[in-house]
Amino acid sequence: MGERQYVQLHPSAKRIEPIMKARILLIEDNEQNRYLVTFLLEQRCHEVVPAASGPLGLELAAKVLPDLIILDIQLPGMDGYAVARALKSDPRLRVIPIVAVTSYAMVGDREKVLAAGAEGYIEKPINPETFVAEIERFLRSPAEEATP
Ligand code: MN
Repeated sequence: MGERQYVQLHPSAKRIEPIMKARILLIEDNEQNRYLVTFLLEQRCHEVVPAASGPLGLELAAKVLPDLIILDIQLPGMDGYAVARALKSDPRLRVIPIVAVTSYAMVGDREKVLAAGAEGYIEKPINPETFVAEIERFLRSPAEEATP
């Protein structure tokens, strides 16, 4: 009478697991954006390797071979388009998915980013509620991603 039933959950059932623990290279010149993106990704147990410029990003990409690259388009000096083209022209790095992030509101910007080699595109300002899920879509294996 009035007896409550408790369902014993496996401890892991209460946690949201990442699709995979990924090493993510973040090429972003804005410190606040780097902080926010790093915070959001680390909450989900991903490892973040930060790079504040395009050339440093290219250097670190070759060094750490990340699972994914988040690429700001508006970078001083070497912009994100040039970085994406350089990454995609390197046989070792071209397989790494690139998700471009930009606040440009220009028509055709998305196409330009994808033409430069990025697999995905996220508009700034970043939505903290959905950002990591959007990024994790690009961490799935091609088999998982396959749709009819
Ligand atoms: Mn920027």
